[in-house]
Amino acid sequence: MRETQILPLVVIALVAALVSVVAMWSLDRSGQGVDLTKTVRGTDAFIEWKLVTTWPKGLPGLGAAPENFARRVNEASGGRLRIKVFGAGEIVPPFEVFDAVSRRVAEAGHGASYYWKGKIPAAVFYTAVPFGMTAQEANGWLHYGGGLALWRELYEPFGVVPFAGGSTGVQMAGWFNKRLNTREDLAGLKMRIPGLAGEVFDAAGGSAVRIAGGEVYTSMQTGVIDAVEWVGPYNDRTLGLMEVGDYYYYPGWHEPGAMLEIIVNKEALAALPEDLQAIVTVAARATNGDMLDDFTAHNSESLEILLTDFPLDCFLHDDVMDILYEESQVAVAALIDADPMAAKIAASYFDFFQRVRTYHEISERAYLNGRDRVMPPVSFTE
Ligand code: CA
Repeated sequence: MRETQILPLVVIALVAALVSVVAMWSLDRSGQGVDLTKTVRGTDAFIEWKLVTTWPKGLPGLGAAPENFARRVNEASGGRLRIKVFGAGEIVPPFEVFDAVSRRVAEAGHGASYYWKGKIPAAVFYTAVPFGMTAQEANGWLHYGGGLALWRELYEPFGVVPFAGGSTGVQMAGWFNKRLNTREDLAGLKMRIPGLAGEVFDAAGGSAVRIAGGEVYTSMQTGVIDAVEWVGPYNDRTLGLMEVGDYYYYPGWHEPGAMLEIIVNKEALAALPEDLQAIVTVAARATNGDMLDDFTAHNSESLEILLTDFPLDCFLHDDVMDILYEESQVAVAALIDADPMAAKIAASYFDFFQRVRTYHEISERAYLNGRDRVMPPVSFTE
């Protein structure tokens, strides 16, 4: 065979080999035989999801989590699953996020489960229980103590799949327009405070008001409310609450480890190839951990800035803490009595809580006490 006859055959063989390698790589990578050549050309082989949030668009901290989740999914999937984030009010109002995901108006959402307590009373366990678990404890319960499985069972009738979507750590008790010296000072106080803690605040003599984050500054400024709890130094500075509140009380008895949620429409999730489902799960887990890191770093930074011109000398008086604890006990008992699913979740939650408290006596608390004894922390209240 002459050289001029061999060359075209070699070229054909090389092209055939290249095509088969690309085809095998595509099948292997997707696991579902997705035509990646279309993805590469940016035509019709990608899936687009809408994610609605309860936060104002662009809010640091709470609002950064859904943006980070979307970016992680987009990057890890090589653009095969593209999530677009919409702030509160852009598609639906903040308190309609759960319904929007349930009805698949949007495929995903980010918010706090206690916003849905009117529809799902037991949902409060997945944001915060007053005087309950810290972020570290709650994460242990969720991921290794059965908490997440019960959360999935709770949302199942609504076609919604929850994932832990971040935690703020211990919050502040909130901004008040007067000092709280005794439990009587709570009487008649109108406060923005959601969840089970809102019921506790009512029972303790106050009046809880339901207001989304985007409206708390104006409500405080115009006197619609006398007090507001939002998050802590980082996100409270973002909303400018030091301009409208006189006294900044701590600690956050009502939200000791406030957990956020990423929620996904069940059918939309099930329709994804398995590798994209895994990417959603891993991105949610990464977002959950990252938010606590974000708040730990930025709360410390913001506290330092606040302390330069704001007297942070308001530790909640024992008498106020006592009445809030007493009413918290009553509120949790009433919730358990009224709702079998709340009773089931509470049994799991408090069983874990008891065990982890014992463990933390000889770990977290013992270490912090030991550290403080040899190296006393700087106090700003003296
Ligand atoms: Ca809060």
